Order: sequence, then structure tokens, then C-alpha cells
Amino acid sequence: MASGGGRSHRQDFVSLAALISREMKNEKMEKPTVRYGQAAQSRKGEDYFMVRTDCQRIPGNPSSTFSVFGIFDGHNGNAAAIYTREHLLSHVLSAVPRGLGREEWLHALKRALVAGFVKTDKEFQNRGETSGTTATFVIVDAWTVTVASVGDSRCILDTQGGAISTLTVDHRLEENVEERERVTASGGEVGRLSMVGGPEVGPLRCWPGGLCLSRSIGDMDVGEFIVPVPYVKQVKLSKAGGRLIIASDGVWDALSSEVAAKSCRGLPAELAAREVVKEAIRTTGLRDDTTCIVVDIIPPKISEEPLPPKKQNIQNILRSLLFRKRSHDSANKLAKKLSAVGIVEELFEEGSAMLAERLGNDDSAVQTTSGLFTCAVCQVDLAPSEGISVHAGSIFSTSSKPWQGPFLCADCRNKKDAMEGKRPSGVQVA
Ligand SMILES: [Zn+2]
Repeated sequence: MASGGGRSHRQDFVSLAALISREMKNEKMEKPTVRYGQAAQSRKGEDYFMVRTDCQRIPGNPSSTFSVFGIFDGHNGNAAAIYTREHLLSHVLSAVPRGLGREEWLHALKRALVAGFVKTDKEFQNRGETSGTTATFVIVDAWTVTVASVGDSRCILDTQGGAISTLTVDHRLEENVEERERVTASGGEVGRLSMVGGPEVGPLRCWPGGLCLSRSIGDMDVGEFIVPVPYVKQVKLSKAGGRLIIASDGVWDALSSEVAAKSCRGLPAELAAREVVKEAIRTTGLRDDTTCIVVDIIPPKISEEPLPPKKQNIQNILRSLLFRKRSHDSANKLAKKLSAVGIVEELFEEGSAMLAERLGNDDSAVQTTSGLFTCAVCQVDLAPSEGISVHAGSIFSTSSKPWQGPFLCADCRNKKDAMEGKRPSGVQVA
């Protein structure tokens, strides 16, 4: 600004800027209310779920509270589902660096989810049990919803405008061509069951093991191309809020996303979850474990008192200023537009099964206070000579530096190679 600029003009600008920052702070402070309901009908006793509404990003600080919801649909026994329910959350949280602000924390969460899923799988397999499980894991922090999943327990989002979107992908060989190709490329065989000389029956499965899923936690007796690397999606809801419906395939084999969402509209979350389960069983009967969690993200009450005309005027000025300020950033502009029409802003989506891609580059390799590096997956301390870069020897090694983090311990490095079909794992590759 020119030094001779009008003083009063400048003062006006400062006071408006102060108002704007107050307005933006208020906007940030308005957290939605989270309500949930859960219902289940058991047939095999292999569906498990978890609900935690009291997690805190900063222990002891209630304004950093977030909620976690999970569904774990086990197969060949329930041990993997129970183990995952007990350990997945702590494994994910221990992979988030300490002392992060909210935005950084939400950013770090996407990678921590990958590490937490792989660590849970590795530790469960070390117990030598053969069962496996799907895992659909949902973290709700104010308006931001982060979903990580392996298997076919789906999470959908129903928004005020009536738009329904799916926040997970089904890792089923029958429907997922990409996963079929990945499994085949890693040395697995994909085919249906067949009687000797008879017709093929049932869904596509991969061999060895005969699993219909291409990703899961556990399952040590199937090929290691059945990986625990989750599909992760992060979205920010509009200020109108929305409803999440998380359910096992007992629901989704009976109901489409549309039908499930519509069957419970207008009901509070507790009744909604029961209604979805009832509707599924009404449609196909109780063929499978059928579990549903409904989570409502409800906007705070908007003051219904009309604003006095003068104040309204200031608000209009603020709004136009905010808009102009934000229009410098096209992403923000788009987000604002989407939010205005009640559409969800997509922040992140990644489904690759390759660990090197998912753990990414890490220029500021996390060093512990003891001066050691930690394994990016299992978080064990590594001596400087021990750590193997996630990029070492990979197809990325031309563009990335093998001495660059994140680092893996020898054990996790072995696991990574096996998942990518680089190590024989009892599978005969022709
Ligand atoms: Zn490790």
C-alpha cells in the first residue's frame, strides 16, 4: 500500500479483516453432532463391530474429540475379526506422528491407516491362525470423514440433497477387474469352483486358498497376493451434514446402496440401523451375518432469529470479500461452490496395493528421541544400518532414492516383497 494512502480507509480494511478472521474462526468452531445406531442379525457369528466416540487427538482436550466406527466380517473362524477389532485402532494411531495440528493430523492419517492395517495383518499372521476378516474402518473428525477398507464391507454416504455415494470399493474378484489383474500378475490363479468334469459354480475365487476377496486381514493360508493394504478415501461434508451407512455383505448382497439409504431416511440413527437390517432380511432371508452401523453427522443448530438489516448488510460484504479472497485459490473456490449446493468435497482417494506408493516419499524421515529411525509399518526402532528404504530395489528406484525414507524393518520389507509377488510364498508360479 502506498505510504500516502488514506488512514481511515486503511483502518476500515483492518477492522473488516478482523471480522473476517472472527467469522472464519466461528466457522471452524461449529462442530457437527455425531449420532449413531447399530443393529445385527447373526448366522455364523463372524461379524464384529466397534464404536468409539470418545477418542481425542490431544489427550485431555475435548475439542480434539473424534469418533471411530468399524465393521469386521470374518471368514474361516472369528479370530481375525476379533483381533482386528481389538488392535487396529491403536496400530493406526501409533503410526501418526506426535504433536500435529488438526489439518496435519488428518493428512498423516491416510498413511497411518495403511501402516496400521499392514501391522495388524502381520501381527495376526504371526499367531499362526488361519482365519481372515474384512475391515471397514471409519474416522469422523468434525466434517471430515476418512474411510479405509479391505474386503467387501461397504460404507456409503447419503447427503441432504439425496445424492448417495460409496466411500469404499468392493475387493471382490467377481466384480473388481483391476484386483483380478493384480492377483494374476502377482502369481495367483483366479477361477470358479468346479466338480470334476462338471460345470463351474459360484463366484470367482483365487487360488491357493479359494477366497472370493482380493484383500483382507489375516488369511495366512492363502497366497500373499491377498493383501491388507486398504483403499482409503477422505471427504469433507458440506455444512448440511450427512449419513453414513456401514454394513457387512449380509446387507449389500440383499440391498443396493440406493435401497438401503432410502429405506431408513427420516429415522434417527438407532432406528435406521435396525430398519436396514430388517429390510435386508425381508428381501433375502437371513443368509449371512448381517451387521449395520448408521452414523449421522448433524449440523449445529442455526440461529433462527432473523438478522437486523444493518448486520445483514455487513454479512453480505463479508461474504463477497471472503469469496474474492478465496477465488485466488481455484480448489477452495470449487470447494465453496460444492459446499453451497450440498455436495461433498473429495480430499483424497487411493487404492493401490503397492506399499511403496502408499507410504510415499519421506524427506523428513521420522527420528525418535533416541536418535533411531522407526519402521514405517510396525513402528519398531531401527538402527541406522538396519532400515531398508521402502523404495530400495523397487520399480520406483530410478526416480526415488533408495536411501530416502520411509524405512522398513527387515521383517516388513519381506512382507512387502511377498505381497508384490517378488518372493515365492508356497505358490507355484508357472
Ligand atoms: Zn516393521
